[in-house]
Amino acid sequence: MTAFESLKAKVGKFSLANKKLLVPEMGRTVSHLVGATMRSFGVDAQVMETYKGLQLGKQYTSGKECFPCQVTLGDVLYHLEREKEKLGEAFRAENYLYFMAESGGPCRFGMYNKLHRIVMDSMDGFSKTRITSITAEDSYSLGGLMGPEVRTHFRRSAYVGLVIGDVLDRTLWHTRPYEQEAGIAEDYLEKALSVMCQEMETHGRQKRFHRILSTLEQVVKKARNLIDPSIPPKPLIGMVGEIYLRSHRQSNQDLIKLLESHGGEVVNASIAEWINYVSYDNMLKAKREVVFALKERNLKSLRRHFRNWLKNRTELAYQYFRMDQVYRRVRKHLPIHEDHRISTLERQLDNDRLFSFKIGTEAGISIGGALEYCLHGYDGIVNVFPFTCMPSTMCSAILKPILDRRNIPYIDAAYDGTYQPNLEAIIRTFMYQATQHQQNRLAQGNTRH
Ligand code: SF4
Repeated sequence: MTAFESLKAKVGKFSLANKKLLVPEMGRTVSHLVGATMRSFGVDAQVMETYKGLQLGKQYTSGKECFPCQVTLGDVLYHLEREKEKLGEAFRAENYLYFMAESGGPCRFGMYNKLHRIVMDSMDGFSKTRITSITAEDSYSLGGLMGPEVRTHFRRSAYVGLVIGDVLDRTLWHTRPYEQEAGIAEDYLEKALSVMCQEMETHGRQKRFHRILSTLEQVVKKARNLIDPSIPPKPLIGMVGEIYLRSHRQSNQDLIKLLESHGGEVVNASIAEWINYVSYDNMLKAKREVVFALKERNLKSLRRHFRNWLKNRTELAYQYFRMDQVYRRVRKHLPIHEDHRISTLERQLDNDRLFSFKIGTEAGISIGGALEYCLHGYDGIVNVFPFTCMPSTMCSAILKPILDRRNIPYIDAAYDGTYQPNLEAIIRTFMYQATQHQQNRLAQGNTRH
């Protein structure tokens, strides 16, 4: 089989039935909760250990690839090698499916699974492990992976799992900077993650959300006791950037913890934000097609695009409904930061003057998200991304001058797996500026968040 034939035959939408599904860990909480939801639907899903195979990822790439591509490649190679060692003769590469999503242009995410395919084909014994994929282009449709009778249920349960993951992360970021004793917040939230994974695995398929959210409420309520109320509010830092890097602690060298160690409290953009953006963006695209079909008086095309618009509109409405429900229930107990609406972020782009969603990529929501943080009185903005990431570089070019004019501290944090000797000094200076910003803001009576 030629490399091209292999890409067509072994990368695509394959049934998850009777296979061990290997899921890369991106954000720890969200990956494990989505994995638990998959298991609830009978999928034998396993979240792979991450970052241990980085050396392998680097060995089989040239260094010009995006860093998440190297990390995820290393994760799957490391996992399969361990399985091979463990099972010996009984190892069957075809029993595994490797999950790697993709998106359309203009950036390189659509190419990760193709490169991974080429590398796995070149290795002894892994060429029979197929790569199953979903794409942002069709709002992550699960056609081909699961039967039609469970697809919508799974999609919706997985979304709730994902929002729960965001809430657990936000609970950690809200409690750890004020914890009564070093390390208790992290320990508590790690245990809470196991509890919530168990809930999703047991009740996800039946969509017993009331029961799942009652457990989540208890978890968040108890987390309030971790806080030492005598610690005054710290400068609040908003984080935006490329989704993998800002969510994957090992790749960003635990940047949130580093900022906290220099006196900050951090709110990272959520994972749900990206899923909401995909639905929103596909809805806008369908709307443009409807207008075009109307102009062309093409009835067939009009019907198709209208159906597509309605599907994305309905999905987005459902997502917002669930997201609001989850946040409403937990915020009764702990004032974690709420998530934005995508239309709010788009409005921040000033009628496309700064950037347009039509260009695509994450840059639009990162720019809009950063400006939304500023509006809510945040004391500094960090843009986290893989070295040479195209959307984040655009984001940086647009945000830097605007935030400079508004006197809001801003830094870019680019990572490629190496350690920057001056990072500590950059963070210290940034946090000093953020502290001054907080003092000035409070002196002016601005306590908004
Ligand atoms: S978003 Fe950035 S890191 Fe991700 S594929 Fe695109 S260019 Fe690469």
